Amino acid sequence: MFNRPKIEIKNPEQISKMHRAGRVVGKALAAVEAAAQPGVSSGELDDIAKDVIFSNNATPSFLGYHGFPAHICVSINHEVVHGIPARDRILQQGDLVSVDCGAIVEGWHGDAAITIEIGTVKPELKKLSALTHQALMAGIAAAQVGNRISDIGQAIENVARSQTELDIGIVQEYVGHGIGSQMHMAPSVPNYGPPGNGVKLVEGMAIAIEPMFILGSPKVHILEDEWTVVSSEGAIASHWENTIVITKSGPEITTVRE
Ligand code: MG
Ligand code: MG
Repeated sequence: MFNRPKIEIKNPEQISKMHRAGRVVGKALAAVEAAAQPGVSSGELDDIAKDVIFSNNATPSFLGYHGFPAHICVSINHEVVHGIPARDRILQQGDLVSVDCGAIVEGWHGDAAITIEIGTVKPELKKLSALTHQALMAGIAAAQVGNRISDIGQAIENVARSQTELDIGIVQEYVGHGIGSQMHMAPSVPNYGPPGNGVKLVEGMAIAIEPMFILGSPKVHILEDEWTVVSSEGAIASHWENTIVITKSGPEITTVRE
């Protein structure tokens, strides 16, 4: 590959700002998770995230991004990513809800997503979320100096393919990404192999790793609101994401939830 994208390499001061941004994202997601229960609207979850972001002297990455109208994305059941929070979207017992949040501290970004079970969900949905989280952690574990970008995707894909209990569709159209002085930067970080492709990982790179698994076909399309990405089959989805920094001693997660 001769046409390599230019990758932003962060110095220690910049990395420490990314950790601060990541901690705000972790706090916002923890607060949203604690509040998410049957009867609560996704619009109320947006208010909670907004309060956490601003009260921690950060600014939201998502609000106004290409015109996005909210502070978080809330994607319910067959919605995969980029769902818009609303007062009239009331969470129901048994829903599987993905919440994505980004925050900026002194110009540096954090980006993370979690999948939340509303009340008691069907066993296969619980397994879907657990498997997607397991894939995220496997992808992070592969983010070692000297590995290549697609080694991360291969590790994620392996988690989906090395089990037979669930029929997993791995979303292809949306992928992880470099992150730092902007939310979305080179390189793209696909959630599938083959391994050994893409740029070599070096110290000071930061990426957001974000597997999106669907319980069925990986086919997705965008709704008329021009944001919400849904499973074309109406199948249930899970999305987990962390921002990580590559270091000599291994990947460091900036978006830690306490
Ligand atoms: Mg995100
Ligand atoms: Mg992201």
